[in-house]
Formats: sequence, C-alpha cells, structure tokens
Amino acid sequence: MRDPRYNKGLAFTEKERDAHYLRGLLPPIVLSQELQEKKMMNLIRQYEVPLHRYMAMIGLQETNERLFYKLLIDNVEELLPVVYTPTVGEACQKYGSIFRHSQGLYISLKEKGKILETLKNWPERTVQVIVVTDGERILGLGDLGCQGMGIPVGKLALYTALGGVRPSLCLPITIDVGTNNEKLLNDEFYIGLRQKRATGEEYNELLQEFMYAVKQNYGEKVLIQFEDFANHNAFELLARYSSSHLVFNDDIQGTAAVVLAGLLSALRLLGGTLADHKFLFLGAGEAGTGIADLIALEISEQNGKPIEENRKNIWLVDSKGLIVSSRKESLQDFKKPWAHEHEPITGLINAVKAIKPTILIGTSGVGKQFTKEVVEDMASFNKTPLIMALSNPTSQAECTAEEAYTWSEGRAIFASGSPFDPFEYEGKTFVPGQANNAYIFPGFGLGVIMAGSIRVHNGMLLAASKALASQVTEEHYEKGMIYPPLTNIRKISANIAAKVAAKAYELGLASHLPQPEDLVESAEKCMYSPVYRSYL
Ligand code: NAP
Ligand code: MN
Repeated sequence: MRDPRYNKGLAFTEKERDAHYLRGLLPPIVLSQELQEKKMMNLIRQYEVPLHRYMAMIGLQETNERLFYKLLIDNVEELLPVVYTPTVGEACQKYGSIFRHSQGLYISLKEKGKILETLKNWPERTVQVIVVTDGERILGLGDLGCQGMGIPVGKLALYTALGGVRPSLCLPITIDVGTNNEKLLNDEFYIGLRQKRATGEEYNELLQEFMYAVKQNYGEKVLIQFEDFANHNAFELLARYSSSHLVFNDDIQGTAAVVLAGLLSALRLLGGTLADHKFLFLGAGEAGTGIADLIALEISEQNGKPIEENRKNIWLVDSKGLIVSSRKESLQDFKKPWAHEHEPITGLINAVKAIKPTILIGTSGVGKQFTKEVVEDMASFNKTPLIMALSNPTSQAECTAEEAYTWSEGRAIFASGSPFDPFEYEGKTFVPGQANNAYIFPGFGLGVIMAGSIRVHNGMLLAASKALASQVTEEHYEKGMIYPPLTNIRKISANIAAKVAAKAYELGLASHLPQPEDLVESAEKCMYSPVYRSYL
C-alpha cells in the first residue's frame, strides 16, 4: 500500500486484503480502477490553478503509479499540458517551494569523483532511458538550475504514457553545476547549489565523468536523452558523445523529426517534393538548425545529390539577420553550413522579400515576428503558404492560428509549437497542427530500446518522421491538419517504434536478435499497461 508501484488504494479486492494482511487498513468498500479514475479526474478538474493540477498529478504518481498512468493515457490531450508544457514550466520555477518527495537523481558538483557511486544509489538495477538536463534552458524560461528536474520527470512520464516504456526503466537526472539565475540564488527555498554556473574545463569534466559512469553502470544500451541544455553546450555534447554512447537530443533531433514529419505530410497538400520548396527560418539555434539539417538530409536521400547542394534552398535568419557567407568567420559552428552567398539582409520582412520562401518556420523564441506584412507577403507569391510558428509557450508564438488564416485569406497551412483552437474563417473550420515533440520521442525511444540499438543514426530519425507523416489521413487533410490527433498516440508510437527498430536492424546497429517478424505487433506487446495486476 505504501509503495506507489504496487499500491491500488481502494481497488485491493477482498481476497487480496486477506492474503496480504490489509484487512482493516482500508475502508470496507472496493472500488474499480475505472471508478478511481473517474474520481481523480473529477478532483483534478476542480482545481482551477494549473499548478494545483500539476501537484495533484505528481501526488498521484508518488502514491499510485498505475492510476497515474491510466489517467495520463486515457486523457492525453487534457493532461499533457498539466504534466508537461506549459504547466511544468511554472512547476520548475517554483520547484523548491512545492518540493515534497524527491523524484529522480541529482548529480551536482559535490558528486564529482563519486558519480558512479551516486548512480548505484538509484534503486533500479536495470535502466533503459535516462533523460538528463543541466537546467540552463528550461523550455523558453531560461536558466532554472537544479529546479529543471521537473523536465526529465515530465518527459519520462510521457515515455511511459505515450511510448509504453515501463516506469521502472526510466531515470530522470539533473546535473547541477550552479545557476546564473539571481532570483533563484536568492530564493530561500531553492534546492540547488548556491553558486554561479561552472563552465569550461570544470563543466566538461563533470559531464565526461557522468557519461562514462552511466555506461559503466548500465551498459551500452541505455538511451541518454539530453534535454534543455543551452545551445552552447547542446551541439557539442551531442557531437562529442554520439560516437561512443547511445545519445539523443530532443531539442535538436526530436524537434527536427517532428517538424520534418509535418512537412512531409503537408507536401500532399502543397504538391511537389521537398526539393521543390524554399525554406526560410527565423531563429538559427537548436531547433532551427536541427530541422534544417534533417530537411537537407532527407532531400539528399531522395535526390542523391550532395547535402551541401541541397542546403542551398534553406535559409536561416538569426538575431543579426540573414545568415550569409560574409558573416561566416564570426558564426558558431552549427550555423556555418547555412552561410550562403547573398548580400547581408536585416529584418525578417526584407529576408522574406528577397528569398521568397514557400515555407516559413519560426524558431527564435521571440513572439509576434510573423507580422501581417510578413504573412501577406508569403500569401502574395504562394498559392498555399506553409507557416509554422514553433516558438513556445503560446505568448512567444510568431503568430496565432487566427492571424495566419485571416492574413492569408484562408490559404495558409498552419502549425505551431503550442496548441491553438480550431478557427473558423468564411464558413470553413481550420484545425491547426501542433508540432509537439511528444509525437516522436516516446515512439523513437521505444524503437531504439526494442531493437537494442547501440547508437542513434540519422536514418532512424528520418524513419520516425516518415512513420508519423504516414499516420495523417484524408480526413485530417480536409481540416488543414498536417499532424494526426494526439488521442491515437499509443498507436502512432507503436508504428514509429517499429520503423525506427527496422532501421536499426537494417543498419546493423540492433543487438536484440533475431529481428522479430512483425515489429508493430512486438512494439505493442512490449508496451506498459497501467491496468492493475492481481496480487493473488
Ligand atoms: P536557441 O538555441 O536559443 O535558438 C534561438 C535562435 O533564435 C538563435 O539563433 C537566436 O539568434 C535567434 N533569435 C533570437 N532572437 C531573435 C530575433 N529577435 N530575431 C531573429 N532571430 C532571433 O533556442 P531553440 O532551442 O532553438 O528554441 C527556439 C524556440 O523554438 C523556443 O521558443 C522553443 O520553445 C521552440 N521550440 C519548439 C519546438 C516545437 O514546436 N516542437 C521544439 C523545440 C523548440 P542568435 O543565434 O543570433 O542569438
Ligand atoms: Mn526540450
């Protein structure tokens, strides 16, 4: 009863109560799991403050794990924004004040030289997915230091609910190297080290010790997902460890895969192939360059031309303007491949006029940048402009669904990072797509685990994108949707997992041999079910 993994609350049957000495410890009534679910949902809906809903869900996770996952699985669209973005952001900001039980593993500078020992303190011997953050770029909220823990905890809850990875196989980790957030440093309830962030050598050494301790403790086949690292570390960590570890960065690679899926599916409405389109990004960070890279790679797979050639139709704008060759020397490495020959241009509208993109993607984190003029311009030289306003949360979106549809006179295809309600324009209802990473990473991770893959390969990301795009049906297209509804996410994840695993086998990266004949069936079979077990 006191162990969340076994607890069923009032659902313990008469026989179980006798067999396990529970008689008298519970009131006489026996409730079904369905009735418990109904009760909890009623309770949660009564909380009007989102943070209270979050705390109720965490409370449930800490007392009755199966009921927690049953709620999450059966009410995905309603509860995703509670356990994940946007509410998890507020939870991280106030993490110290609402902290009750510790979830996950904290590795701070104090653990230097003792990280392996620290990992061994985690009670589970077998771990298959680690989500790790250093808290420096939590969602769009910046540096939240040690309080970033809400992110790995939330992401892993989605691994279980949406991807079916058993909770016991999931390990949330926060690496605490300090924070530069003055507000937190002065907060009496802050839970992290009270010091400025360690950088350079000191930072790299801690990360190196961590990466090797993980491999030593859990072996080659544990998936390490980097989450919400600032871009000055994210690209380097991914590059440094991708040849020695099974690593995945959701902000770079997961975003890329989910956006590419939306583009592939949108092609059925736009016509042509990716190579026929011209892309312009506002924002050239983890999301922007990650997406751009994957698009160029997919085009190369399709037309066989070198990737350098296919990059030429993809343009990015950062805070200093269009990325062009004359800026090359001063650019960060991850931007250099995008420095094309062109005169310098500042201002998005000028870039739109000069490049004349068919697809406009916002990944700058700055809201309201797709102005009326920008959208009208896109609509002036495109029959069907594709506009993706990916910056989160909603307040940072480059434009709203309503704006995209009205300014383009109902011709735009629109998708965003944060959800927007359907919008009616001149008698037609448009349903905006949500390019939510939750479409990809749970199924992707499941596929990697199923195959026992020892590395992540870009081919597996492309496979995940195509699997997601293939789940969009005519019925969705009619409403202007380029992503399937999240309600079917477990099925979608199983399909993604199957395609990712198949790719791992094809590339010789899989270690679980022989390859199962029906990968979708085997994905569905290994997915965690939150239904109570019998203890008789
Ligand atoms: P990031 O690595 O910090 O990159 C931000 C980029 O935007 C940088 O290139 C920055 O330019 C540029 N930028 C900032 N202000 C600008 C301005 N006023 N005009 C033009 N460019 C500007 O951040 P990220 O991880 O890529 O995330 C960016 C946004 O995408 C966030 O809002 C995030 O929530 C969102 N996102 C959405 C999804 C999704 O929808 N599934 C997934 C991931 C991220 P400099 O390089 O010059 O500083
Ligand atoms: Mn993230």
